[in-house]
Amino acid sequence: MLKSTKAIHSLQNPFRPSSELPFLQFPGLSRVKGLRHAVYTRHGGFSLPPYESLNISSVVGDKAHRVAENLHTIQQSFGAPYVQEMNQVHGDHILVLAHEQGINSDTGALPADALVTNVPGVALMVKQADCQAVIIVDPVKKVAAIVHCGWRGNTANLPGKVIDSMKFSFACSPAEMRAAIGPSLGPCCAEFTSYKTLFPSHFNRFMVRRNYFDLWEVSRRQLLEAGLQNDKIEVAGICTRCRTDVFFSYRAEGTTGRFATLVMLEP
Ligand SMILES: [Zn+2]
Repeated sequence: MLKSTKAIHSLQNPFRPSSELPFLQFPGLSRVKGLRHAVYTRHGGFSLPPYESLNISSVVGDKAHRVAENLHTIQQSFGAPYVQEMNQVHGDHILVLAHEQGINSDTGALPADALVTNVPGVALMVKQADCQAVIIVDPVKKVAAIVHCGWRGNTANLPGKVIDSMKFSFACSPAEMRAAIGPSLGPCCAEFTSYKTLFPSHFNRFMVRRNYFDLWEVSRRQLLEAGLQNDKIEVAGICTRCRTDVFFSYRAEGTTGRFATLVMLEP
């Protein structure tokens, strides 16, 4: 299992592999005191093909009990008292989980594509198989956010809207924030033949060759335009469609699982 993450490591990506249940981390984020984050792979779980093996989505055809076992394994490995998931409808709805509202463990998947919280011990989770998980944190105000961002999220400038939400709800300053863009569809594989009807015309500058777009750079730009500093944005630079040995990819595999990215303010 670890072999594949080691293989990735040798690609000089910014991640570090870890032991037991394999996961990867961003070096910059891992230095933020009081913050925990992890990008899990497709390995180390209980699901059978085509969901092998750490699938965390219950809406892709996998057996519910295996998904539950996988989620439990991740929760134990991550050390999270509580994991909050979203329904992820490729919209731009952002939910803020603040102290005073209290967190109810019976909530289930919240209707959102982004979560923001200042509550310690609540792990925010994105399920993905080509879409980006973008982690945004303010280490000073101690606020963490996670964004499920596919191309629709990019067209809605969801990363920028999440930063606005952090400013509004918790008086966060973008200059203090750090962000990380996880493994997802890379410019090598992000083909959009009908981009003229899908994307705003200003996305044309992110076209790397005919019909192919650099959505990592779109998100990075959206974070910069929201006020983040260049040296505080990390990009994994790992394409899920190219690396189905490590991650699930909807574009490469069709019927497949979803892998997990988590962030939490330590309890
Ligand atoms: Zn690729």
